[in-house]
Amino acid sequence: MSTLSAPKNLTRNVLIGMALGVAVASAFYYSQSSISETIYFGIQNYVFNLGGQVFKNLLMLVVVPLVFFSLVTGISSLSNMVKLGSIAIKTIGLYLFTTAIAVCFALFFGWMFGLSGEGVEVGEYAAKDPTYCIAGMESNSVYCTVLNIFPNNIFGAFIQNNMLGIVFISILFGIALNLTDDLTDGFSKTFEKLNTVFIKIVLIIMSYAPIGVFCLMGSYVMSKGLNIFGDLAQYVLLLIFVLIFHLVFTYSLILKLFANLNPITFFKKMKNVILFAFSTSSSAASIPITLKTVTDELGVKKDVSSFVVPVGATINMDGTAIMQGLATMFVASVALYDLSLVDYMQIVLLAIVASIGTAAVPSAGIITLTLILGSLGLGLEAIGLILAVDRILDMLRTSINVCGDAAVACVVANSEDMLDKNIFNK
Ligand code: ASP
Repeated sequence: MSTLSAPKNLTRNVLIGMALGVAVASAFYYSQSSISETIYFGIQNYVFNLGGQVFKNLLMLVVVPLVFFSLVTGISSLSNMVKLGSIAIKTIGLYLFTTAIAVCFALFFGWMFGLSGEGVEVGEYAAKDPTYCIAGMESNSVYCTVLNIFPNNIFGAFIQNNMLGIVFISILFGIALNLTDDLTDGFSKTFEKLNTVFIKIVLIIMSYAPIGVFCLMGSYVMSKGLNIFGDLAQYVLLLIFVLIFHLVFTYSLILKLFANLNPITFFKKMKNVILFAFSTSSSAASIPITLKTVTDELGVKKDVSSFVVPVGATINMDGTAIMQGLATMFVASVALYDLSLVDYMQIVLLAIVASIGTAAVPSAGIITLTLILGSLGLGLEAIGLILAVDRILDMLRTSINVCGDAAVACVVANSEDMLDKNIFNK
């Protein structure tokens, strides 16, 4: 009998993969002078970079069909369509709320610990050319984000990985499927079956995760070594502190307060998701694992998780908002610019909007950071510095981003009576 359970000892093996990746790549990195350049770059490119990229591609490969089939199946099985509206409102409300808290913490701690970049040498940074969804409107603007929800071509949305558009199409399709099930001779069953097949694909890919993260970690270390923090110690340490503080404090609070759930159980069950988000630096690539954990381990009914998780991966980025708040303070101090109260309020609003517009892929948060800096009239040169340490910080903030999605999924499910507490507490 075939099953849909996670590969055995996955967490342990993924951790071993990570540690080995760092160890092996460090050994190469620090003995670079005694290895021929051809061999070094050969190993870097053809073992670590290629292996890591293949693993990330495999994860990305299943994201779109998985989101589509699980959302269609979830929605079409909802007997009460009014429920969908209330789930959506609560989800988006909670996402905005937690992101606002996240950026406020960042600014508060930045102010309290006197975050300062004075005296730090500014590196070179070339701002990326913006892309536009229509003339004059940059792709990460609110205008384009809203427009993306309503694509004008079904296949276009799928091909471009337009997650919000795919969510919208899936909801529409799920509703129609639900309303026509008796006319189509139970066509919705076919979607349930396809959903099961895609979950199985995810499990197969996950069984190769230890090798995948070995390559990903190795690829980071081989390009920069371990010693990339340098001058930015204060920014880096403060960012790590606020990220962990938000993870432990805010999510525990909302889980306990809004749903009376045990945060320790939550974090224990999230460890695989955290490891995946950490190694891939992408909320989108983590969707398959987040979805599976939230449904099977945390007990959130599929109808809720299939909506809350992909939407969260796309618009809810508390970790990114924290980075953007602190990075803006850091850049302001490098530029010897005194932030006023109005500036602080602007940062909160802009960080919320920017984190919604940030694509759920590695380093995307840095691109939307330019939007905040630009709006405050700050130069973009200091981003060069932040960029140097961003690889590792991106891994950490992505883990926070996905934990936020899962915590909100539990709270929303609980409020809709769609959380199986027996599974959660098991
Ligand atoms: N890597 C982040 C994510 O996928 C986005 C970012 O760069 O902040 O969640």
